[in-house]
Amino acid sequence: MWQTIGQPEALALFQHSLKTGSLAHAYLMVGAPHIGKMTLALDLARAVNCQGQEPPCGQCQSCKRITEGKHADVRTISLNSNRDAGDMKARAEISIDDIRELQHDASLPPFEGKYKVFIIDGAEYLSTEAANCLLKTIEEPPPQVIILLLTTEESRLLPTVVSRCQRLELKPLPIKEIEKMLVKSHGFEADKAGLLARLSHGCLGWALSISVDDSYLEQRNQRLTEMISLLSSGWEERFNYSAKLANERKSAEEIIRLWLGWWRDLMLTKCGCEQVVMNIDYVPIFEKWAEVMRLAEVKDFIIHLQDSLNQIALNANLRLVYEILMLNMPRKERALETLSGSRK
Ligand SMILES: [Zn+2]
Repeated sequence: MWQTIGQPEALALFQHSLKTGSLAHAYLMVGAPHIGKMTLALDLARAVNCQGQEPPCGQCQSCKRITEGKHADVRTISLNSNRDAGDMKARAEISIDDIRELQHDASLPPFEGKYKVFIIDGAEYLSTEAANCLLKTIEEPPPQVIILLLTTEESRLLPTVVSRCQRLELKPLPIKEIEKMLVKSHGFEADKAGLLARLSHGCLGWALSISVDDSYLEQRNQRLTEMISLLSSGWEERFNYSAKLANERKSAEEIIRLWLGWWRDLMLTKCGCEQVVMNIDYVPIFEKWAEVMRLAEVKDFIIHLQDSLNQIALNANLRLVYEILMLNMPRKERALETLSGSRK
């Protein structure tokens, strides 16, 4: 009853280690946001504490309590844990106090299960002090303790921490598999499942998290429609739009990645590879724009978009970044008559 979908290597390793009693004391689970790191971590927590015949059974008291987040021996430490009620401010790092508390807790025997499992969700947020402190526990772990470090950015972890963990890299799922899951197990309509599967980049958790309400898809449509209308807009409109976008620092990367996805799809359409576009609901629009854009123009602008992502990562002036993009975005004034920016 593993809840993890895909990830055959990780599951094979766990199954083998459980059978032979050769579990590591610390695992590092690396992968994109919503790829299934927490699902895998909880699977392992259930497997080592399961009271059933075939762990993780998912049915026994222990498995159920872990699933409900009530098991005394399974703890998650993250930026959101250890916050006082009413304290809404997100923390910037996981502190040494969190790790000292973990160490104290780890020194006591399991309370109700067989293993104590500590899940550090967002291990890249461990402060240097906290990471160094954790190192001692990973090097000389108390028996019956397993530490799971979950991260999207392995490069931000101390190399000494990484080298002492058994590393597991979670891979994106094939689009077809996600599409099938969304239809079969979650009752999605085929069209929506197809679109979300393509937009998910192989992360089932992402598709499920944004399917809860339609606001993501609505916002995506609005942003793409606005960008498409810029293709036939004058300079003043473009610069006004830059100024507007420059106020949204938090969403800058998301917006540029969205644009990048659209331009990649346009390039794929120009190259005759429509069947692999990600934004499948925009296929008719790609076909129209592919007629008026030259491949070199599309390719150049994709390079500019990639550059702008690097600049944003370096904390560049956002307005300047957008203005440079506006100057370099292909302009097709005459296309305005024949091409509508809005979706069909
Ligand atoms: Zn069980």
